[in-house]
Amino acid sequence: MSTAPDRYVQLLAQHSLRNTAMRRAVLELLSRTPFALSSHDIEQELGPGVDRITLYRTLKSFEEKGLIHRVPENSDVSKYAACSIECSQHAHFDNHVHFKCTNCQHVYCLNQVSIPVVTLPAKFEAITRDYLLAGVCRECQPA
Ligand SMILES: [Zn+2]
Ligand SMILES: [Zn+2]
Repeated sequence: MSTAPDRYVQLLAQHSLRNTAMRRAVLELLSRTPFALSSHDIEQELGPGVDRITLYRTLKSFEEKGLIHRVPENSDVSKYAACSIECSQHAHFDNHVHFKCTNCQHVYCLNQVSIPVVTLPAKFEAITRDYLLAGVCRECQPA
């Protein structure tokens, strides 16, 4: 998989999003960070001068277009992760397991781990699926 900056320009075009510096920066940041980030985290990472409203709109449009997804977490803060390239629009957010590290507090997308099929009782219809495991991540394991 190429990590050339062109990739983000291409991704934006593929999702009918205008190519702006903010959009490229947010997409690049979320793609290279192995865990989910809150809008506050993103603001911190992008440095001073980030317009909060523009950032908010950027995240919203990315979410609508299926470039990023919200990760389930037991807190009031929304955290976002980049969707894998393979995922198709609006079918991506609830197909993989998420993992929250109780040590570093990072929430990881385990894209390679599918949510197991759950058989529901009659007349129960699931609309969303949040599958969140908690424990100790790879980075926090003792050497
Ligand atoms: Zn950790
Ligand atoms: Zn995820």
